[in-house]
Amino acid sequence: MVAVPETRSDVDDEYDGPDERGRFGDFGGRYVPEGLMAALAQVDIAHRHAWADPEFQHELDLLLRERMGRPTLLHPAPRLASTLGIAGAEVYLKREDMAHTGSHKINNALGQGLLAVRMGKTRIVAETGAGQHGVAVATVCAMLGLSCVIYMGTEDMARQHGNVVRMRLLGADVRPVRSGDRRLKAAVSEAVRDWVAHTDSTHFLFGTVTGPAPYPRMVRDHQSRIGSEARAQVLAAAGRLPDYVLACVGGGSNAVGMFHPFIGDPDVRLIGVEAGGRGLGTGAHAATLSAGSPGELDGSFSYVLQDPDGQITRTHSIAAGLDYPGVGPELSYLKDVGRIEHTTATDAQALRGLRTLCRTEGIITALESAHAVGALLDLAERGAIRENAVILVCLSGRGDKDLAIAADLLDIDSDPRLTR
Ligand SMILES: *Cc1c(COP(=O)(O)O)cnc(C)c1O
Repeated sequence: MVAVPETRSDVDDEYDGPDERGRFGDFGGRYVPEGLMAALAQVDIAHRHAWADPEFQHELDLLLRERMGRPTLLHPAPRLASTLGIAGAEVYLKREDMAHTGSHKINNALGQGLLAVRMGKTRIVAETGAGQHGVAVATVCAMLGLSCVIYMGTEDMARQHGNVVRMRLLGADVRPVRSGDRRLKAAVSEAVRDWVAHTDSTHFLFGTVTGPAPYPRMVRDHQSRIGSEARAQVLAAAGRLPDYVLACVGGGSNAVGMFHPFIGDPDVRLIGVEAGGRGLGTGAHAATLSAGSPGELDGSFSYVLQDPDGQITRTHSIAAGLDYPGVGPELSYLKDVGRIEHTTATDAQALRGLRTLCRTEGIITALESAHAVGALLDLAERGAIRENAVILVCLSGRGDKDLAIAADLLDIDSDPRLTR
């Protein structure tokens, strides 16, 4: 567990990031083969135009409201708050689990799907790891009448069979990837290869805030909906801004989407929660901001988990969506300038968060999101949360996909690590 420092921010008031070259300070950029440059530049320009176009914003807004369940609820959580044992503390949960398809991934999938239509593309390719992003993309493609190809490693297909069935029911062509690690990394390579060969007809719908520019900024723009809704909802419910905002960090899209609208509010502490796995000391974790160093991965410069020779290290997390050795360049930058903080929750702390949330608020959350809850319990126990605090936690998704893993919970009620 890393200590959470006090916020010290060098980030200026006008911060919107990134610059023209897709850089957030030193981080980001475009480390890709020449053949991809033109396609990325085209997406970049199209997104900037669309984002500034009131007609695009209106259409996006309408579809999010009418079909995706936005705005999602802000759930006051008094029983969870009382377990913290902090006088006057209020906790609010941002319920991205209640968005269509059960996670925040739909916000980005819809936004980029509309952009693809606007660019005249008729076909989408995407990567998926655990399948949540693939399901969101397949859903949007069905809705917008786009043809859909999802690349997925064979190892992930075996582990996440339910999501493979969902994607196929929705009409997606799910293509097994047998090369490389047979997981997310290999799936991304295959999706990019397909895109390069078909850029005239095809948009590559990437799922998180990593990768080459413009993806970190574009995905953040779409996910910022989470934070802008939550900011207004907390103001209305609590009468003031939150003191602490927590979100889990895999690639970083739900976190940066939640944090971004609060960046100009210096008194709001923004805390990213990474997967501590079996503990940082064991090496079996996925805590990139906490234990990584700057390097190049998947087309951008960012914090990555690497050995002294620059080899990307193997990660572990109980939550598939956090099990990744990189993190978005914007979060890397915000860490370095002191505007965000980071901490970790181990597998056991996440399970404790899951169990506590189930029994206090009646919400079966995703294992990814359970890390944010677990970290909150831990911070409270360590005296790191002040009295009368207003705390906002992002619940990025629902737990249905994790039931097989969570079944173990039923056996570990007596585990002292989980019940203390
Ligand atoms: C994919 C996923 C994550 C991790 O991705 P980020 O880009 O870090 O948000 C977290 N929670 C859920 C429910 C997910 O499906």
